[in-house]
Amino acid sequence: MNFFLTEEQKAVRKLARDFAEKEIKPVVAEDDHTHRFQKEIVLKMADQGFFGAAFPEKYGGSNLGFVAHAITVEEISKAESSLRHFFNMQALTCPLTILNWGTEEQKEAYVRKLIRCELFGVNAMTEPNAGSDFASIHANAVEDGDFFVINGAKMWISNAPIMDTGVVYVKTDPKIVPKHRGISCFIIEKDMPGLSRKEIKDKLGHHSAPTGELIFEDCRVPRNNLVGELGQGFKIAMTALDFGRISVAAGAVGVAQACIDESVRYCNEREAFGKKIGEFQMNQQKIADMIAGTEASRILLYKAAFLADKKIRNTFESTIAKHVASETCVRAARFAVEIFGGYGYSEEYPVARLYRDAILYQTGEGSSNITSMIIASDGLGWKKVKVDY
Ligand SMILES: Cc1cc2nc3c(=O)[nH]c(=O)nc-3n(C[C@H](O)[C@H](O)[C@H](O)COP(=O)(O)OP(=O)(O)OC[C@H]3O[C@@H](n4cnc5c(N)ncnc54)[C@H](O)[C@@H]3O)c2cc1C
Repeated sequence: MNFFLTEEQKAVRKLARDFAEKEIKPVVAEDDHTHRFQKEIVLKMADQGFFGAAFPEKYGGSNLGFVAHAITVEEISKAESSLRHFFNMQALTCPLTILNWGTEEQKEAYVRKLIRCELFGVNAMTEPNAGSDFASIHANAVEDGDFFVINGAKMWISNAPIMDTGVVYVKTDPKIVPKHRGISCFIIEKDMPGLSRKEIKDKLGHHSAPTGELIFEDCRVPRNNLVGELGQGFKIAMTALDFGRISVAAGAVGVAQACIDESVRYCNEREAFGKKIGEFQMNQQKIADMIAGTEASRILLYKAAFLADKKIRNTFESTIAKHVASETCVRAARFAVEIFGGYGYSEEYPVARLYRDAILYQTGEGSSNITSMIIASDGLGWKKVKVDY
């Protein structure tokens, strides 16, 4: 067992940390306030190779691996959690799905362009009436010669307002039992007739991450855009979530660490009753809880990413990492706001933003209830996801 980062991974951390200091921190508060999509920052992140860590050189990646990916996400998210979304759309869920399940032609056409942000991607699973219950989606595709005709809607889709391409999951066999067998995955492009988009504005947090709806009205998608086999979509989506949860857990660790950093600074500055507020044991207890939870989350995250690097199935580990890290970051954000007292309620300090951003980690890529169910079902022996290694 080795808990040391390699020299390469340390260099990755330094690169991401320096980038965050120079490019992100000076503008984060203003961009959060104006809800601005930070396109030029995202393009610079692509230039630095941040989205290609888990991809082979053949498709434009650096092959540094999932641990390197996790380290990068943590550093970027620590500065600005909105930017975390791009690590899914431009790396783990969209292009990685095409890399893992697509044809050679699909890989050549999309993977390199997505990780370089020459194309912006989506991963469209959720619908207005089906999120956690993914097997019950309604959007459907009907075969018509060399095309599939898609009808339906997707809700809460990251990158939808700015998308060029992406993967969408629809029913191709609505009557099949069990129903998850009737789902298929397709590559879509923004200019396909019958596809329209609507931005979701005024979100609670993650203001700089564009989110929207996709509406399909007789949208004709070429048969060649099918990813994997017909009816294989549920399996494709679930394996994509194993990777996506690494990125989400890393984002949550970054937010939790930001809460610690801000709280420690404030505890050593602010005075009450003639003392630094860090001298009060009740504040120390919060700091200790935040640090212990974040460190535990980080170890779980690195373990899940390490298994992905070894190409070992990590559903169990990535789910636990996501579960613990997201709960930890929400608690850390709440503690940070409490430590800041009245100023915690003000946009003058970053903790209000951290609090608003933290909450999403309990919902995306499987809510905390759903990750609890996966962990409990394995523990109870009902549905094993843990593999021996
Ligand atoms: C900013 C943002 C970005 C997003 N980006 C994307 C994206 O890019 N692509 C995408 O496909 N989706 C995306 N989502 C959607 C997200 O994945 C879903 O919101 C999430 O999966 C939950 O689904 P839901 O909102 O339909 O909630 P529901 O499934 O309706 O759940 C509502 C509540 O009930 C609980 N619940 C549901 N079923 C059970 C159960 N069996 N047992 C116990 N509790 C249960 C849930 O935990 C939750 O608390 C995004 C959401 C947000 C807010």
